[in-house]
Amino acid sequence: PTAVALLTRDLRVHDNPVLGAAASADHAVPVFVLDDVILRGGHRSPNRVAFLLDCLRDLRRELRELGGDLLITRGDPVREVVGLAERFDAATVHVAADVSAYATGRARRLSKALSGAGRELVVHDTVVTVAAPGELAPQSRDHFAVFTPYFRHWREHHTRGLHPAPKALRLPPLRPGGIPGRADLVDGDVSPSLPTGGESEGRRLLDDWLDDGVHHYASDQDRLARDGTSRLSAYLHFGCVSPTEIAQRVGESDGERAFLRQLAWRDFHHQVLAARPGSAWNDYRTRNDHWRTDHEELAAWRDGRTGVPLVDAGMRQLATEGWMHNRARLVTASFLTKSLYLDWREGARHFLRLLVDGDIANNNMNWQWVAGTGTDTRPNRVLNPTRQAERYDPDGAYVRRYVPELADLAPPEIHEPWRLGEEELRRRDYPPPLVDLMDAARRFRAARGKD
Ligand code: FAD
Repeated sequence: PTAVALLTRDLRVHDNPVLGAAASADHAVPVFVLDDVILRGGHRSPNRVAFLLDCLRDLRRELRELGGDLLITRGDPVREVVGLAERFDAATVHVAADVSAYATGRARRLSKALSGAGRELVVHDTVVTVAAPGELAPQSRDHFAVFTPYFRHWREHHTRGLHPAPKALRLPPLRPGGIPGRADLVDGDVSPSLPTGGESEGRRLLDDWLDDGVHHYASDQDRLARDGTSRLSAYLHFGCVSPTEIAQRVGESDGERAFLRQLAWRDFHHQVLAARPGSAWNDYRTRNDHWRTDHEELAAWRDGRTGVPLVDAGMRQLATEGWMHNRARLVTASFLTKSLYLDWREGARHFLRLLVDGDIANNNMNWQWVAGTGTDTRPNRVLNPTRQAERYDPDGAYVRRYVPELADLAPPEIHEPWRLGEEELRRRDYPPPLVDLMDAARRFRAARGKD
């Protein structure tokens, strides 16, 4: 019989259970469906589409080397896959489990449509994450609401064996069709310094990282200017690299342990969203916030013109690279939600539009964590961007890189340019801060009833 591998966020040949399962059938049809709901919907992102097209080109080349190919179609994934299963008379369709409401709904619809025709959908549940969501849940609950106990279980649980890349793929006769170019699909501007997508690039990055960078991770992960993190997030988002493989290859040094802990956050947020799909856009834990509305402040935040250098540096890094350092994500998100007291959903939407690694589980659950409506056990803490800059950008190198208006300054002025006075700020075309940081923190605590 023939099997269809519906590839989604698992664009790799190494350790891919979906592809592996299909490859063991007589004939395998790997397919990727360009889905207009994702490409044209409310969370569309030129950066992710550009990165995705790189991934598809690279995957097709790899599959062709194995004697296979990648079929690319466009439309509703359920209709497309049901049509292909009929055309090739496939008995089974394999797909990776995923946690968003959209992905679970898609799998449900597909399973129903296939079973009506006597075909089976097999959902593989440790492709996108290391542990299946819910697998580690405490006895009386459907998920862990606090990270540390989750991580203790996660670290000790046994991961499945790795799937080597299939040796050969036997294809039924098919005409795969071309891969669209950026101009056909990308709707909007792509960040100028976007990384190149694909499994080849992801594996190269991973190998280099495990050889070297990871050993400095414990000391460098929060140092903004050192760029001491793996930059694997977009490759993990599209599944160019397998999280299970990473977890198995990581050793026991301090840096490796710290890195593994960070990788577990990804699984943690996925299991929260799997159990509470509504918390993608609703407060996971409501704090009865009455968020302010201020379009000008929101626009200044998006544009990196808040007058708070570390916040502006982060927002400008996001615009130019489609990626932002984790420490800067924490500071910019805290500034929006706690210093400006604007709704976390506005911030999450902007991040989702630009982040090449953007996904609902990691993005929205992290936003809620920062806003104090999520799983943070200290929901009312407010990060002070100036203190954060002193700690994590002590010589101002990160701000200097992204905020040329201040590039000739040194600390303390580079982090507190308002010390220079209004006239000097005007001369530099750099805005005064949108809020007094101390007053803003007081306003937030009062709003939360914690003054
Ligand atoms: P590394 O430090 O090298 O970490 C390794 C991997 O661990 C990352 O690639 C990522 O997959 C995972 N990871 C690390 N930290 C986290 C975390 N806090 N939550 C979940 N996974 C984590 N990450 C995304 O992948 N997609 C998002 O849309 C996203 N949005 C975020 C929004 C906010 C407001 C915040 C505070 C964080 C967000 N993160 C998101 C988490 C984190 O910032 C990024 O995963 C990280 O910066 C990616 O860079 P890296 O690959 O170099 O990370």
